[in-house]
This record gives sequence, structure tokens and C-alpha cells, in this order.
Amino acid sequence: MVGDNLRNLYAELPSGVKLVAVSKFHPVSRLMEAYDAGQRLFGENRPQELAQKVPQMPSDVEWHFIGHLQTNKLKLVLPYVSLVQSVDSLHLLEAIDRWGRENGRTIDVLLELHLGAEETKHGLSETDIDAVISRAAEKSGIRIRGLMGMATNTEDEAVVEADFARIQALFQRIRTEHPELRDTFTELSIGMSGDWPIAVRHGATMVRIGTDIFGEREY
Ligand SMILES: *Cc1c(COP(=O)(O)O)cnc(C)c1O
Repeated sequence: MVGDNLRNLYAELPSGVKLVAVSKFHPVSRLMEAYDAGQRLFGENRPQELAQKVPQMPSDVEWHFIGHLQTNKLKLVLPYVSLVQSVDSLHLLEAIDRWGRENGRTIDVLLELHLGAEETKHGLSETDIDAVISRAAEKSGIRIRGLMGMATNTEDEAVVEADFARIQALFQRIRTEHPELRDTFTELSIGMSGDWPIAVRHGATMVRIGTDIFGEREY
């Protein structure tokens, strides 16, 4: 079933768009079903859960962190992931940069743009993002690979469309204004189970899909 879900998604996704299988709250046995169907890229949003799952999965799995990350949890996450998608504050960005320098690493990150009005307080403003981008070269412990965003949680497709259009415009503007970043600032992570086709129309290079692969989560 997980395998069928994955095959259906890959049949519809344009070939350039990476699929992050969001496996949070699902047991390793379910992740292994996806692995056995060929999936290698997984996303988790809780540090403890990630750190527990990593040693139980084959070593060729690539992990992305996609959740709110507190600075006292960096060591549970940064050794294991190839990308932190959810840098949602300047404080966190500074802490990851410091951890990278102290550990002789360059950590790939996406900056999370605060989209939508309601529920979440997490995310950077466009002003914050512009400021970070213009000083990116000073931060040797991180490499900013692009933007991530979550659209407003609504049935109203026009609202979702507007959110994705806004983050796509910011992404393109940064690439235009900073030709020196053109080879590294390449990723736009937008789209989840409910809205990924809209995200793909707005230039997603990565979609993060949980429910459409693994079914509903039991919290
Ligand atoms: C849980 C989660 C997803 C996946 O959500 P689904 O609706 O299950 O596809 C995507 N992105 C983030 C940041 C998440 O926390």
C-alpha cells in the first residue's frame, strides 16, 4: 500500500521535483515499506524521534529535518541530516552556524518563510530573509540552499495559491538579485499532501508528503 502510494505520486510528479517522505509518528516498519519500494529521502519533525529512527534504518537513507528545532536539540539532529528545511528564526540560524563551525561542518539549510495568517508563529519575514541572504557569505557553518514554506491550512485554493505565489516570487527575486548564489540557492520546498499539485505549478523543487504515502497519523 505504501509502495502503491509512492508509485502513484512518482507517476504524477515532474521528474525534477524531489519527494520527501514525511514519516513522523509512523513506526520504522512503515518507513521500511517505503524503503523497500525504493524511497530513500525521509523527513522527520521531532529531534528525539529522528535520532531514534536513524540507527534503525539502512545507512543509505537521506534525512531532512522539517520541524521546529530548539537550539538545545541541535546535537540530536545535525549529525544525521543532509538538510534542515525549517530554519524559522535568526537565533536558530546563528546556533546552527556556530555548531557547524565548531564541528568542522557546513550545514545545508532552507529558510522558512512565514506564510499564512494563522496557527503558526514560526517562520522568518521577507525582511529577515533579505538580511540573512545579504550576509550569507559570513556564515561558514551553514549554506543556504533555498526557501521552505507551508501554505495556510484552508480549503480555499485561491489562498493557498497566493501563499505559494508569494514564496515563489521571493525565491526568484533572491536568485535574480544574488547571482553569486545561483548554484547553491536552488531549492524551493513547498507542497504537502493536500496542496502539492498547486506547489508544483509554483515551481516547487521539493514536496514534503506524509499522509498521501503513509495514511493518517495517530498522534
Ligand atoms: C507533517 C508535515 C508535512 C506533511 O504533511 P502531510 O499533510 O501529511 O503530507 C509537510 N511539511 C511539514 C513541515 C510537516 O510538519
